[in-house]
Amino acid sequence: MIDQHERLRGHRIRTTLKRVPGILSDLEPTPKRGSGAGSSEPKLPISETVLEAGDVLRSVLVSWARTTMEERHVPPPAEDTIPALVAYLIYHSEWLGRHPAGDEAEDEIADAVANLERLTDNSGTTIFAGHCPECGQAVYAKDGRTAATCTARNEHDESCSTIVDVEAGRLELLTRATDMHASAVDIAAILPVPASTIRQWGRRGHLGGYCDTTTKETRWHIGSVLNRLDQTVTNAA
Ligand SMILES: [Zn+2]
Repeated sequence: MIDQHERLRGHRIRTTLKRVPGILSDLEPTPKRGSGAGSSEPKLPISETVLEAGDVLRSVLVSWARTTMEERHVPPPAEDTIPALVAYLIYHSEWLGRHPAGDEAEDEIADAVANLERLTDNSGTTIFAGHCPECGQAVYAKDGRTAATCTARNEHDESCSTIVDVEAGRLELLTRATDMHASAVDIAAILPVPASTIRQWGRRGHLGGYCDTTTKETRWHIGSVLNRLDQTVTNAA
C-alpha cells in the first residue's frame, strides 16, 4: 500500500525539479540550441550571486543523487551538471518521496530552487536593457549582468535568443528617450538618480510630466530629468 502523503511528496519534488531548466535558461544569456543539457558553459559574465545560488543547488542535488545511487543501487547520473542531476532526480523522484528522509529532500531541493529562482524574479532585480536589434522586443537584464537574451518567440514558437548588450542598449535608449516620458522607477533604472529624487524634483516643479490616467502614475519627461541631473552635477563640481 503506497502512502498517499509519500506519493504526493514525490510528485512535489518532481514538479519543483521540472522548473529548473526554465530558471537556468533565464539565468544564462547564452544562445540555446538543441537540448544542450550540461554543455552550457556560460559565455557571458554572470553575477557572483547567481553562481553561488547555482553552486548551492548543485551540491544539494549531488547529495540526493548520491543517496539515491548508493541506497537504490542504480548507476550514477550521466554528468555532474545541474541539468543532468535534475533529470536523474526527476526519474527517481517517486522513490525519493518515499525515502525516510523524503521530507528533508523536498525541503532542501525546494529551498535551493527557490533561492535560484528569486534571482530571475522581475521585481526590482531586472533592468531595462534596450530593444532587441533583431525583433524589436524590449529586453530586460538580470541585475549585475552585462548582457541579456531576447526571450521573444516567433510564430513557430522559436526563441529569438539574440544577445543584447546592456550598456549599448541603455545608451541607445538614452539618445532616443530624451523626448519620452516614463515613471520615476523606470527612469531611475536607466539614469544614475534614485526614483525618490526624481519625484522630489517633480514635486518642486523642476520637471515636465503628466499623470497617466490609467495607472494613476506620474510619467516624467526624461529630457528634463537629464537637464536637472546635469545641473546637479555642475553645481556639485
Ligand atoms: Zn529578439
